[in-house]
Amino acid sequence: MQSANSKFGLMTTAIHAGEAPDPSTGASAPALHMSSTFVTDQVAGFSAHDLEDDGNFLYARWGNPTVQMLEQKITALEGVEDCVCLASGMAAATAIFLTFLSAGDHAVISDVSYAGVAELARDTLPRFGIAVSLVDMSDLAAVAASLRPSTKLVHTESPVNPIGRLTDLAAVSKLAHDTGALVSCDATFASPLGQNSAALGIDLIMHSVTKYIGGHGDAVGGAVAGRKELISKIRGESAIHHGGVMSPFNAWLVARGLSLLPLRMQAHQSGAQAMAEWLEAQPQVTRVIYPGLPSHPQYALAQKQMTNTSGMISFQVGDAATGRRIAQQMIDRLEIVHYAVSLGHHRSLIFWMETQGLMDTSFRLKGAQLDSYRTYGGDGVFRMSVGLEDPADLIRDLAAALA
Ligand SMILES: *Cc1c(COP(=O)(O)O)cnc(C)c1O
Repeated sequence: MQSANSKFGLMTTAIHAGEAPDPSTGASAPALHMSSTFVTDQVAGFSAHDLEDDGNFLYARWGNPTVQMLEQKITALEGVEDCVCLASGMAAATAIFLTFLSAGDHAVISDVSYAGVAELARDTLPRFGIAVSLVDMSDLAAVAASLRPSTKLVHTESPVNPIGRLTDLAAVSKLAHDTGALVSCDATFASPLGQNSAALGIDLIMHSVTKYIGGHGDAVGGAVAGRKELISKIRGESAIHHGGVMSPFNAWLVARGLSLLPLRMQAHQSGAQAMAEWLEAQPQVTRVIYPGLPSHPQYALAQKQMTNTSGMISFQVGDAATGRRIAQQMIDRLEIVHYAVSLGHHRSLIFWMETQGLMDTSFRLKGAQLDSYRTYGGDGVFRMSVGLEDPADLIRDLAAALA
């Protein structure tokens, strides 16, 4: 796989990395290779242990040219050595946990994270003898106190779903590395354009490519990017053995979306900034959390760490009953914005997430950790993924739904 090519700018990289005109046809656009197997002229072994980094394609669970093209694009954009694409963002999270954790190990995992990841960490990992501490990653003293000699992995998410709290990635990486642990970050909300995760010390950069990287809401997939030695381990375990590979068709769709990611992220950011400022001025809105607003509790960190503040806004309208009423008004009245989960698409999406419900199911926080959640999330948030429609149209749509 090709490593980061710093010779080119981000837009050139997003368009050209991993691609080349087809030598046999001259086709300018990349081909979609659906083949599950590849004719070989070598007598070779058929085991993950025989996998050579630059070997020929053999079987699509090991590697496929179209999936590899997407992996090379993400590798180049993240400025790392390698990337593995998997069937979903959850497959990517599972890959990190099951590749680098074994019975007897300890993992420190963000106490707020994508709900599926939170549930996997809290309910599934302990079944395999892995001890898990769920920690508020914005509290560096809590992170430091949670580390043990057996800590092998620190997993964070920044900005965190659904409340937009940030992790100081450089500080958490340093704490983890000082105890010999790897650090992974779910950077789905930020996208590769939102922060330079590798330069901040993150060993394993995870994305749900279903979101910004694909960007069109038509393909599910996941990715983990990092050093070659770490990514090769994931490929051997999670692609070849656990089997969670990405379909070449999805890779082709996601790569097509990724080509324009730098342009889309600029537009997501400016649309979200306009929406966040407008929301902050509305009397029905009691709190807006957006890393581009000076009112974000970690605005200084956002300014230091984020290179694009992305398109994800969380806002509150008061107590849970009010939230539920406004959510119903949105379902009834929104003309453009879709009331739906997911994020990062060109279509704007919004969804109400009540705090008590999330505590009962996914997060189960108490004490200071619950207080921190409520600082950002109150009794519940509308999580809005600001798409690429005209900001004035989106504002008119929201105004009618909030009235
Ligand atoms: C959506 C999402 C995931 C899970 O990704 P899937 O592609 O749906 O499996 C993980 N983390 C974050 C932050 C997400 O938004």
